[in-house]
Amino acid sequence: MLSWSIKLFRIAGIRLEVHATFFLLLAYVGWEGWTEAGGTGLFWRVLTISAFFVCVVLHELGHSFTARGYGVGISRILLMPIGGMAEFDSLPRAPRKELLITLAGPAVNFVLAALLWWPVAHMPDTIYFYSFNGLIYQLLIANLVMGVFNLVPVFPMDGGRILRALLATRYPYLKATKIAATVGKVFAVIGILVMLFWLDSVLGALLFTFILFAGEAEYRAVKRREAEDAHWRQMLERFYGRPPDRPIINVTE
Ligand code: ZN
Repeated sequence: MLSWSIKLFRIAGIRLEVHATFFLLLAYVGWEGWTEAGGTGLFWRVLTISAFFVCVVLHELGHSFTARGYGVGISRILLMPIGGMAEFDSLPRAPRKELLITLAGPAVNFVLAALLWWPVAHMPDTIYFYSFNGLIYQLLIANLVMGVFNLVPVFPMDGGRILRALLATRYPYLKATKIAATVGKVFAVIGILVMLFWLDSVLGALLFTFILFAGEAEYRAVKRREAEDAHWRQMLERFYGRPPDRPIINVTE
């Protein structure tokens, strides 16, 4: 089968892969820099976007190392133009663990923002966009945006998962997922409208549309798995007289 992801290298045993479309983003950003400021623009734009994605990888490693601490295997981290994704082998359905695994991603961005704060606070008043100072300043903003954006309760983004984990301490897993997915849809629609009519960003609107469908798809997957689990539990109970534990496959943004 034709694979669109390219294997880069391993970080602490975790495979880092990049989706082929990521290079379209690099090319686009580079071209934008070139038309604005020639070679200088191209160099700093490509360096800046690469640095952004190093932060994305660190965010995903935050999820991954926390998950690993709970004995969860990580199959890979995939980078796409819209962000990163850590794929877990299986995840125990424990709200507290899911909560901490999810929180660890945005927490990395806030730690990075805190580290970048000091150099930015000591910069001169005017900084040139295509410079080292410009890069550090943009990285600070990017980490703040990444941290905050990921906390918006849009399922299946981190914020939606945090909401689901909190709800799951009170409600059954499927019901918690349903509520989180419904809240997520409302926020996703608000996101689409804000992007279209306030920020004038078609790309941003498309991103929220994608999230809207991804949230619904994941809710359906949980529902299907729940039905399968119930079926197998019934079958096994008939034979062994006790319910089995079955881990679920999970993917987190
Ligand atoms: Zn995340």
